[in-house]
Amino acid sequence: TQYVYRFGGGVSDGGKGDRNLLGGKGANLAEMASIGLPVPPGFTISTEMCQRYYDEGQQFPDSLRSEVANGIAHIEAITNKKFGVAADPLLVSVRSGARASMPGMMDTVLNLGLNDETVVGLAAVSGDARFAWDSYRRFIQMYSDVVLELDHSAFEEALEIAKEDKGYNLDTEMTADDWQALVKRYQELVAEMWDKPFPQDVHEQLWGAIGAVFGSWQSERAKVYRRLNDIPGDWGTAVNVQAMVFGNMGDTSATGVAFTRDPSKGDRAYYGEFLINAQGEDVVAGIRTPQYLTRIARETAGAKPASMEEALPEVYGELAKVFDLLETHYRDMQDIEFTVQQGKLWMLQTRSGKRTAKAALKIAVDMANEGLITREEAVARVDPAALDQLLHPTLDPQAPRDVIAKGLPASPGAASGLVVFDAETAEKRAELGDAVILVRVETSPEDIHGMHAAKGILTARGGMTSHAAVVARGMGRPCVSGVGTLAIDAKAKVFRVAGREVREGDVITIDGATGEVMLGAVPTVQPELAGDFGTLMGWADQVRRLKVRANAETPLDCKTARIFGAEGVGLCRTEHMFFDAARITAVRQMILAEDEKGRRVALDKLLPEQRADFTEIFEIMAGLPVTIRLLDPPLHEFLPHEEEEFAEVATATGIGIEALKRRAAELHEFNPMLGHRGCRLGVTYPEIYEMQARAIFEAACDVAAKSGSAPIPEVMVPLVATRRELELMKAVIDKAAKAVFAEKGRTLDYLVGTMIELPRAALKAGEIAEVGEFFSFGTNDLTQTTLGVSRDDAGRFLTTYVDKGIYPKDPFVSLDVDGVGELIELAAERGRKTRGDIKLGICGEHGGDPASIAFCEATGLDYVSASPYRVPIARLAAAQAAL
Ligand code: PEP
Ligand code: MG
Repeated sequence: TQYVYRFGGGVSDGGKGDRNLLGGKGANLAEMASIGLPVPPGFTISTEMCQRYYDEGQQFPDSLRSEVANGIAHIEAITNKKFGVAADPLLVSVRSGARASMPGMMDTVLNLGLNDETVVGLAAVSGDARFAWDSYRRFIQMYSDVVLELDHSAFEEALEIAKEDKGYNLDTEMTADDWQALVKRYQELVAEMWDKPFPQDVHEQLWGAIGAVFGSWQSERAKVYRRLNDIPGDWGTAVNVQAMVFGNMGDTSATGVAFTRDPSKGDRAYYGEFLINAQGEDVVAGIRTPQYLTRIARETAGAKPASMEEALPEVYGELAKVFDLLETHYRDMQDIEFTVQQGKLWMLQTRSGKRTAKAALKIAVDMANEGLITREEAVARVDPAALDQLLHPTLDPQAPRDVIAKGLPASPGAASGLVVFDAETAEKRAELGDAVILVRVETSPEDIHGMHAAKGILTARGGMTSHAAVVARGMGRPCVSGVGTLAIDAKAKVFRVAGREVREGDVITIDGATGEVMLGAVPTVQPELAGDFGTLMGWADQVRRLKVRANAETPLDCKTARIFGAEGVGLCRTEHMFFDAARITAVRQMILAEDEKGRRVALDKLLPEQRADFTEIFEIMAGLPVTIRLLDPPLHEFLPHEEEEFAEVATATGIGIEALKRRAAELHEFNPMLGHRGCRLGVTYPEIYEMQARAIFEAACDVAAKSGSAPIPEVMVPLVATRRELELMKAVIDKAAKAVFAEKGRTLDYLVGTMIELPRAALKAGEIAEVGEFFSFGTNDLTQTTLGVSRDDAGRFLTTYVDKGIYPKDPFVSLDVDGVGELIELAAERGRKTRGDIKLGICGEHGGDPASIAFCEATGLDYVSASPYRVPIARLAAAQAAL
């Protein structure tokens, strides 16, 4: 097997199609080299090697030695420099690069190849001793941290002391001699902490770095990132070894990162940051505040330091050409890293740029309109889950705000919450149910669990491409970064700004769209659904086959659902109407009644209320199908608990409190989820379902009479396990329909069907379909009963199950396609065999989960039903599943 793939100098052993083998970075370096862009020569060690490295106990096979030697020879030949030879030494970078981008999660070593001799050579050929010694000390510092795993603060401290001794404020004041002295000090530190001198053999350096990069694949932070982003642990990373180019060789040198379009708003404008006389990591690390790429961006921001367009116009022109070429070549927005070494442009990376949901939409729609991609491709480009960011409220423009600071609008959306200063506290308070805003000087990969737990992120340092900004955008968290006026004292848990003091636990609001930071909570408004969103959803609707309905029972939910494009109600949970404060006493009266007569008295009070509920829903849904599920939850859940509640029922019924308590004790259940619930209620107390069916048909007739457009009620029986149960309940429903139609003097079409949410129902679907005219898969209960895992208690152990790979994802969030999915397929098949035109849908939480929707498409269901805010996500996911 070949493990090493070269690129640069007219050679490209790989290309953009080799992402799995070479990682994203390696594949794109090879691709850029092959289309003639200036890429420093190098080679990629494949991800297959990473897998083998771990399989063989973190050892390299001998064959790799000669392959790497050939790779080095390739770089030497093109650069005309020699690795480890003082006269004109070759320096290389060693970087990770996995199949999926994992920003900042894995290790990098720069300036490798420097030792006590080559540093002298570098000083001579560059004519810049200061640069050479600075590069050497950077190398020792990085290598000690990443490869030798020594405590990096010792090196930072040594640098601080060296500056203090000389009375310097800035690194730039350090002279060649100062750096040389620091190198000596660093080497002493290494000898002390590592018990061995810093390696002088450049080959030993190289193999150490390669091992460290492969090793970083299994670092804790990389594992956390993979878990949060669903990246499999067995993919492995590639290692890229590449000739160094230097952005820190004076004022005609620079380094930067750029996007071919605005990654935050999606506008068609070059977008990026650069630093003159700096090395790559300086931009991302957020230590110096970077300068704008374009003049217009600088002017818009009212910033002083010259943009790249102004400071280095020729190279900027060249760069702009490269941007256009890359966008046309890759047909997507690109995220680029470049370095300018003494006026010459070098491309170090390109990849599809991460973007906000808003930008993703705009870019997809614009590119389709520009003819760069098709409409179907545009639909496929937008991650349905990311739409969540757009569907949630933004700050009410009318609301008063107490703005205390302004930073960069790093990731859109607005969030209010309690201020916390570290990731651990963020996680703890979020677990307790608090909304928190994580406030940091800058974030690092160690903070990601806290960023995930937080509602928003605020940093004092760092630009739009800082760690905080990139990660927050990826997670869909609002983020304001680079608020320079913020004085954070994380130890004392306080920050000060503009004469104000904000302590841990105080409430602030951040607006990731404007960069504003406000004291207190600011109210929000609903999002804008026209524009690009509407366009893309329209294109999605043209390609999808699955219908999308909503789970909704309140008028507000029904209206929201329609605004979001729902094509009906897939699940109206009638019990939600029973919990209403005005009705609960009548509900309790019904439950606690000793006999049918007592129950009917209470049900008579509930009938007009239910009828009014359904009337409103039918009116809002105007002729669209509405699935109404008859009472489902255990009676247990409605029982009174407080003294006061018993007293209310006693007054309403004239039954004594003691008698009521006795009855309540009789109704208590040990396992209510498997107890007296679902159609078992209808079987034991048919008058409940009779009342509900009557309310449905009366409402339907009234609306039909009033509006002329007849609603299509679909009456659904929950928790059916046998044909006979459904048969009994259908008889109750049909009888109520007949009675109402006779009274109202009109007949309406309606369907009677059932939830399939018990394994027995799935197995016996063939028989059940003899009675039921539709099935709706209740995958919440079906998951609970198939896995034997309580949906209400699973939180405590399911994360461990996912961590250990027992289930790939939480099966209550994303359908267990292997197990529960097989039951669904079987039920669909058996149901269809009995009744060819049986209507099939899903109404568990999975109906709004893109992966589960793909399964529903493959199984040929007719519709999915999701909560109103997830309806657009479901529409887009259904379209993607159909493509
Ligand atoms: C289900 O079980 O999937 C379902 C939709 O019903 P509920 O969540 O109300 O039990
Ligand atoms: Mg259920």
